[in-house]
Amino acid sequence: MAKHEHVRVAVIGSGFGGIGAAVRLRREGITDFVVLERADSVGGTWRDNSYPGCACDVPSHLYSFSFAPNPDWPRTFSGQRHIRAYLEHVTDTFGIRPHLRLNHEVMKTAWNADELRWDIETSRGSFSADVVVSATGPLSDPRIPDIPGLADFTGKVFHSAQWDHDYDLTGKRVAMVGTGASAIQIVPSIQPKVGRLTLFQRTAPWVMPRMDRAISAPERWLHRQLPFTATARRGLLWGIRELQVSAFTKRPDELGLVERLAKANIARAIKDPALRARLTPSYRLGCKRILLSNTYYPALAQPNVDVIASGLKEVRGNVVVAADGTETEVDAIIFGTGFHVTDMPIAPRVIGADGRSLADHWKNGMEALRGATAAGFPNMMTIIGPNTGLGNSSMILMIESQLNYMADYLRQLDVLGGRTALAVRPSAVGVWNRRVQKRMERTVWKSGGCESWYLDANGRNTTLWPGTTGEFRRETRTVDLSEYEVLRAPAKPAAGRRATRKKEAVQ
Ligand SMILES: Cc1cc2nc3c(=O)[nH]c(=O)nc-3n(C[C@H](O)[C@H](O)[C@H](O)COP(=O)(O)OP(=O)(O)OC[C@H]3O[C@@H](n4cnc5c(N)ncnc54)[C@H](O)[C@@H]3O)c2cc1C
Repeated sequence: MAKHEHVRVAVIGSGFGGIGAAVRLRREGITDFVVLERADSVGGTWRDNSYPGCACDVPSHLYSFSFAPNPDWPRTFSGQRHIRAYLEHVTDTFGIRPHLRLNHEVMKTAWNADELRWDIETSRGSFSADVVVSATGPLSDPRIPDIPGLADFTGKVFHSAQWDHDYDLTGKRVAMVGTGASAIQIVPSIQPKVGRLTLFQRTAPWVMPRMDRAISAPERWLHRQLPFTATARRGLLWGIRELQVSAFTKRPDELGLVERLAKANIARAIKDPALRARLTPSYRLGCKRILLSNTYYPALAQPNVDVIASGLKEVRGNVVVAADGTETEVDAIIFGTGFHVTDMPIAPRVIGADGRSLADHWKNGMEALRGATAAGFPNMMTIIGPNTGLGNSSMILMIESQLNYMADYLRQLDVLGGRTALAVRPSAVGVWNRRVQKRMERTVWKSGGCESWYLDANGRNTTLWPGTTGEFRRETRTVDLSEYEVLRAPAKPAAGRRATRKKEAVQ
């Protein structure tokens, strides 16, 4: 008979969101929970993305949990290996291992209105939970565009998030598709070893210098001996980014000044005027994510690199064909084409109170109160839900704000007592969403003249938060019960309740 486990909270995912939620639950005194993870280890983004050059674009002292400072970050911008090790360390330090259910992919979770609980089917057995915290990540399912002829390509194909380390790129003719955050880290890392690199660039990114350096031994010693120095460093990094926000959200013209610096960055490395023109973006800086690199442009200036200012249109045998008609023979195609962001992959698997999926509810665009709770899905919250992303700062700040909200949500359920659920009122979601979308009108993401992965199929920005992280922290400090309907299960006779619990234990 398949094993069944009932828990108070089921967390889905073990990236920064899921591990952060687990630590927060323990700090709140809640130990009756599991973390369901489809992979065989924790780490999320920083486990899956192991491509050459993979690193964070936010300084490490800010891209880490405030409750788990790491005085030993080796570089100002740490690489994937160190961030992954940090998450493993947090998992051990805070006693999260016993709660982990690795290799448990959530296939379906459905609201059980009679029992006021979630019934969860995973690839390794079933669970039920009073509350589900979905932390499946905004960038966790790679997206490869539907390119005619790709299935018949005779060479090697992989996505940046599924790097094939057994495939030797030395001397190979490689097509790199995409020029986003991952691609600009991959290009300089593989250019010296490949025979020929053909870069497919649909839209040129704005790339700024990366102020990366090793953190010196005396600095690390200071942070270890006097922890307030690390806190002050984090505070400074946070404050600088908070001051930048209004340029993105209210005064995009101010970003024109930064464009001059970015153009100087291109001019320094690219002497060929035709290539310089191809690499100079035609939209306002900030409209797409600003990328950081000191090595991207110098790599593109090398004789074994071709930049095709056009997308990949078709594959014919071992020939890649650009939208502008350019044909190139290659041995491998690497897709740096991003992730399923606005079509959250967990959404079709979450079935709400009316029997419809979250994907169905969100078919005209994702929306959730305070980025967390969706109408029709009681006792469920999303970490990094709709409109919680950032263009210029650390996602860990947003995750920690949502963890505050989660903790208060669970406290409110305790206070209400009995078998209770909180169902967000559609009107509250509507008010919140209209406010967010109104503020979006003035942002560079809307007015900057670009198309980006921040926008959904209807052109609506359902991914980014149009304010400071401080504002979001205030908006998520506590749960406002007037925004929720309280659902209560009818009291059951004592004997009946015992019977139900027994059934749960042996199912
Ligand atoms: C290459 C790259 C670079 C980035 N750089 C930055 C940066 O510089 N600064 C920044 O702020 N952010 C950056 N990000 C964004 C990053 O995704 C977030 O900062 C953060 O790591 C997200 O954490 P998460 O826990 O929400 O999601 P993830 O880290 O994606 O974790 C989600 C977890 O859920 C699991 N999961 C998904 N579906 C299921 C299922 N059905 N059942 C069970 N488990 C499931 C996944 O396996 C994964 O382990 C970057 C992302 C990528 C991909």
